Amino acid sequence: MLVYVVSMEGKPLMPCKPAKARKLLKNKKAKIVKYEPFTIQLLFECENQIQECVLGIDTGSKHIGMAVITEQGNVLYRAEAELRQDIKENIETRKRLRQARRNRKTRYRKPRFLNRKRKEGWLPPSIQSRINAHIRLLKCLGVDFMRQDLEEKLMQDFPWMEAKHIWTGKKLDFPTPCECEDGWFNIIYNCCKEIDDLYKSKNANINDLIIYQVKEKYGELCFYVGNYIDGVQEIIDKHKKESAKTCEVCGKYGSTIYKGSWLKTLCNKHTKELGYEQFKEFEKNA
Ligand SMILES: [Zn+2]
Repeated sequence: MLVYVVSMEGKPLMPCKPAKARKLLKNKKAKIVKYEPFTIQLLFECENQIQECVLGIDTGSKHIGMAVITEQGNVLYRAEAELRQDIKENIETRKRLRQARRNRKTRYRKPRFLNRKRKEGWLPPSIQSRINAHIRLLKCLGVDFMRQDLEEKLMQDFPWMEAKHIWTGKKLDFPTPCECEDGWFNIIYNCCKEIDDLYKSKNANINDLIIYQVKEKYGELCFYVGNYIDGVQEIIDKHKKESAKTCEVCGKYGSTIYKGSWLKTLCNKHTKELGYEQFKEFEKNA
């Protein structure tokens, strides 16, 4: 069993053994912030050393399985979350009670049935609840997502950045998650702006564009898109190159470096802080 640890600023750190946690708590060097799972917060400054970990998720309609392991293969976190199965029933009960109440207590009203409209991006409540649960759990684990207000700004300026359902293309009412750190916000923003301008200049409908994923891969920014027009891929490639020279954390000039087999683009300061080494002989496109 491990105890989860967050730093003074609330950033997740590597977990520790219960014995160490007890010592820290006894010496008033940490406080308990959560009991389920048991999490402590350090009350002193530390170097915020963290290691790269891999998260595996088994999604499903009744259970979500999750595990986090380190590069050495140690299991840090294991969880199975049970999803709510009562949404549909609850909503039907609500409907029945409402109908009965209106029938009982209100004057006669003409039936109205042709003026109902579902909000764009509507999904059945049971499915919506499942999607929300997945996102909630991922955010709990501190998966690298860009800050929410930055994601929302993207969606505000480029409404087509709203996440869409992969099968139906329906809008989902939240921004496409950017699975990278905040330093690349400007690059993502400029990339969107150029794509937006391209569609305008060609009089094409940008809502046809599908964005599958925006993420960091091999230290570079990746935009996975579908159903695009000529020129989009060139814009994306241009910004991918840009990201290989930009620190993913702070947005300053940086270079691609590695730790073990992990690549990340960082400036000198963050290279030291996060414990990476300078990029030397690793063939990136091998
Ligand atoms: Zn930096």
